[in-house]
Amino acid sequence: MEPSMSKAKALQQTLGAASERMVASLAALVARESPSTDKASLDQLAAILADVWRDLGASVEVIENLERGNHVRVVVGGSLQTEATQPGLILGHFDTVWPVGTTARRPMTVAGGRAMGPGTFDMKAGLVIAEYAVRAIRELGLTLPRPIELLLNSDEEIGSGTSRALIEEAASRAAYVLVLEPAVPGGALKTARKGVGDFRVEVVGRASHAGAAHDEGVNAIEELAHQILRLQQMTDYAVGTTVNVGVVGGGTRPNVVAAGAWAEVDVRAWTRDEAERISAAIRGLQPVNPDTVIHVSGGFDRYPMERTPGTVALFETARRLGQEMGLELTEQASGGASDGNFTAALGVPTLDGLGAVGDGPHAEYEYVEVASLPERAALLASLLCEL
Ligand SMILES: [Zn+2]
Repeated sequence: MEPSMSKAKALQQTLGAASERMVASLAALVARESPSTDKASLDQLAAILADVWRDLGASVEVIENLERGNHVRVVVGGSLQTEATQPGLILGHFDTVWPVGTTARRPMTVAGGRAMGPGTFDMKAGLVIAEYAVRAIRELGLTLPRPIELLLNSDEEIGSGTSRALIEEAASRAAYVLVLEPAVPGGALKTARKGVGDFRVEVVGRASHAGAAHDEGVNAIEELAHQILRLQQMTDYAVGTTVNVGVVGGGTRPNVVAAGAWAEVDVRAWTRDEAERISAAIRGLQPVNPDTVIHVSGGFDRYPMERTPGTVALFETARRLGQEMGLELTEQASGGASDGNFTAALGVPTLDGLGAVGDGPHAEYEYVEVASLPERAALLASLLCEL
C-alpha cells in the first residue's frame, strides 16, 4: 500500500484484482443449494462457510439447531469475551427461497457483466462480499478498530424464527449492525424498512341447513366479508401503511350456513407508533352482526427499521468512503423487512443493503452485477476499518 493512498482506494485496488475469484466463490455457493426448510442442505453449507472463515483465521462456531439449519457465528479481529470495545455486527443469511433441483435447471451463468442464478442476489453474493472484504483487510495488513462478529443464519427467508434470539443478543452488545442483504436495484443502501405484521382474523357463526333452516344460521362468511372491507380500508398510502387480506377461507359445503371463516392479513408500517396504532385497530374489530364472534391473533413480528440518527451516521460514513472510491451512494427506504428490523428495533444503528447490486430477488431473472462484487467488498472493508 503506497503511503499516499487512502485505505479505501487501496482496498478498492486489491479487491478489483479479486473479481474473478469472487465470481468463482459465488458460483460455488450457488451450486450448494440451501432452501430454508432443508436442514441437511443447510447444515452442509453451514459447514462449508465455517471452513471458509476458519481458513481466514477467524474463530468460528457452528450453532447447532434441532429445528432448522445450523447457524454460523464468526469472530474476526479479537474475541467477544476479552475485548473492552463493543464489536461490530454483520448479518447475513445463507438460506434461499429456491428448492433443491433449481440449479440443475438454471445453474449460475456469467454473461454481459452479470452473474445470474438462484440465490445470487439474495444473498449469497453478500456472503462472498464479506469474505473478500476480510481477505483484503488481511492482505493489506490493515487493523480493525474493534472485533467483528458475523452472524450467518439459515432461516431468514422464513422469518428467522430460530435465529432471532441469537441476532438480538448479538445486536445488544454491538456498536453497530451492517446487513449484507442486496442493495436497492441501482445500488442504494437501505436506511429504513417497513415493519411487518401477520394477523389472522377468525369469525365464528352458527351452522344450519341452507334450505330447511336458513334463518337459524349465522353466516360467518358474510360477517368476514364486512371485516375484509374494513381491513382493506385501513390502508393509508399517504403514511405508507398497507393492510392486505391475502388469504381467506371458510364454510364447509354450499348447503350449510357457514359456521366459520378466516382471513390472513399482511400489515406494513413505517414507524413503531403506526404499527401499534394499526395493530390496535385490527384487534379492536367489532362484528357487524352481533350474533357472530371475532377472534384476532398475530401481530407485528418485525417492527419497522426506522431511520434513526445512528443509522444516518452510518450511511454518511459509507457515502464518504464511497466517494473516495468514486462511488455515489444513495439511501432508500424499503417496504420489505429483513433481520435489520430486529436490530434497529433494539435501538442499535443499522445499515442495510450492503450486499451486491443487481435485481430480481426471489425471481427467475435474479442476478448480480459482477462489477459490484469487488466494489461492495471494498466499501464493506473500508467501513469495518473506520467504524
Ligand atoms: Zn435476503
